[in-house]
Amino acid sequence: MFEGLEEFGLQNIENKPLYQDEDDEKEKHPGPASEKNNEAKYLFDSEVGCPVCNSRVTVKRIRRSALRLVSRDTDSMPHYQDINPLFYEIWICNNCGYAATQSSFTQPLTQAEAELIRQHISSKWRPKQYPPFYDAHIAVERFKLALVSATVRKARPIDIAMLCLKMGWVYRTMEDTDNEIKCLNQALIGLKSAYDKGPFPAAGMDESTLAFLIGELSRRVGNYQEALHYLGRVITDRTAKSALKEKARDQRQLIINAQRASQSEAAKTQDTPDSTSKTSPPKGLKRLFSKNK
Ligand SMILES: [Zn+2]
Repeated sequence: MFEGLEEFGLQNIENKPLYQDEDDEKEKHPGPASEKNNEAKYLFDSEVGCPVCNSRVTVKRIRRSALRLVSRDTDSMPHYQDINPLFYEIWICNNCGYAATQSSFTQPLTQAEAELIRQHISSKWRPKQYPPFYDAHIAVERFKLALVSATVRKARPIDIAMLCLKMGWVYRTMEDTDNEIKCLNQALIGLKSAYDKGPFPAAGMDESTLAFLIGELSRRVGNYQEALHYLGRVITDRTAKSALKEKARDQRQLIINAQRASQSEAAKTQDTPDSTSKTSPPKGLKRLFSKNK
């Protein structure tokens, strides 16, 4: 997850597991850059104090009131007119290398957390000047830096998961599906941990909203069994809002449709004269899958 951060002096971080007991993942280079325009009216500079080294940091803020939401993906990824606020979500202190989302950056750290950042990041940190407007490539780099900080200070799984999810969303804007799926899979680890252990709300989500997100992300990464399990929890949860249950039923139907399509595809292969019984799935197994709704 951390490849490409050598210029910041963080070359040894790439073997660090994201969650303390998980293996790291290698990144490919992200896809083509997107053009930026008309973003200036949404952005303004502001100064905040760094919770690690106390220096004054100039950061970019978004004029939220000017944003126009165009649409939202089924996993809640928002699309806005003219600008993608996700690209500006991470703030970085160029003095000590601490990086975090806007909301985390303004939270104080414990002495122990700040010491971990100083020891593992600040001691090697090489500052970098960014251009006035950020594209998806820059956003990915900044999310990676925030993931390094979160991992080093042993942030909660839900915080690491939300960073992975949002980084996955940035990859989605680049149509880099491989890296998006990697990030969503990493996000799922932390989201499931938060779901199992609580407390709620977790990252602003109640239990059924988080179950829906896990179900929908599982569907997107192709883990249909897991998706059906979590969407089923939403559908049978008496406290869940009816609109959310409706969405869960819709996403469950997509899975059922996809499973039926792959079954009929398998059946076609079986029916072609050239195919032998060796290559076809056993009938009993097919029936088992088709019951799965
Ligand atoms: Zn700092």
